Amino acid sequence: MQAKGDRFESDNLHQIMNKVFTINSGRSCDGCTACCEGWLTGVAYGYAFSPGVKCKFLSHKCCSIYQARPYDPCKTFQCHWKLNTQIPEWLKPSRSGVIILQKYQEPFHYLRLVKTGKRTDPKVYEWAKDHAKTGANIVAFDNNEILLFSENQEFVDLMKKELSI
Ligand code: SF4
Ligand code: SF4
Repeated sequence: MQAKGDRFESDNLHQIMNKVFTINSGRSCDGCTACCEGWLTGVAYGYAFSPGVKCKFLSHKCCSIYQARPYDPCKTFQCHWKLNTQIPEWLKPSRSGVIILQKYQEPFHYLRLVKTGKRTDPKVYEWAKDHAKTGANIVAFDNNEILLFSENQEFVDLMKKELSI
């Protein structure tokens, strides 16, 4: 199941945060093209990509128009792994099989895990469980299952209502 709103785009707040974090994050996309492969939705120069449909410009695991790629979403989008160095290195999307997106559903910030392969490594869910113990709210979409990791009952109730689970 693909979550509504798994977009390869940046809203204004996200763009500002990206700029702030990008200065401090030494992380690089090298070796990863997960956000172009058709797990998220977006549009590059009028060509839409979406779950199951990779970006038209993705070729041999790299962007064929990298220097001329669109500013938005391509230059502004950064997944949460790239922005936040507190997320373990092994959770890089190309290694872990999940793209982590930062989301907001009033009044909660949360992380959304979007899987990029057929099977999510159980280690990812172990991490999510542990991370929730530190106060994080996490929603994972895995095939037809939606998994919630949070110790905040209000968040859990809100998500169950929002996602009809
Ligand atoms: S998913 Fe993250 S690490 Fe991978 S290419 Fe996109 S922004 Fe870079
Ligand atoms: S234009 Fe390039 S960077 Fe942008 S989504 Fe397509 S392949 Fe990725």
